[in-house]
Amino acid sequence: MKYYDKNVSGIPRTAVWIKEEYLFTPDCFRCSSCGKRFSDQTDECPGCGARMTGIKKDPVWIDEIIFIEETGIWRDPQDGR
Ligand SMILES: [Zn+2]
Repeated sequence: MKYYDKNVSGIPRTAVWIKEEYLFTPDCFRCSSCGKRFSDQTDECPGCGARMTGIKKDPVWIDEIIFIEETGIWRDPQDGR
């Protein structure tokens, strides 16, 4: 771990990946600093350059199941129903 990396502001910025887990689509990683989503987990955010210090899980699929149960709508992208 290097502590003297600098970005444009001169202050090393850190963030964490928020791993979004979906039911029907592949997981993606959201930067906690800039909010951009990427398919790969990297050491630095490709969007804002923040150094990633960890990962948090965001089980979006729970919300998707709640949505399905509340609405009865089963959103299967393969099926198109
Ligand atoms: Zn970022």
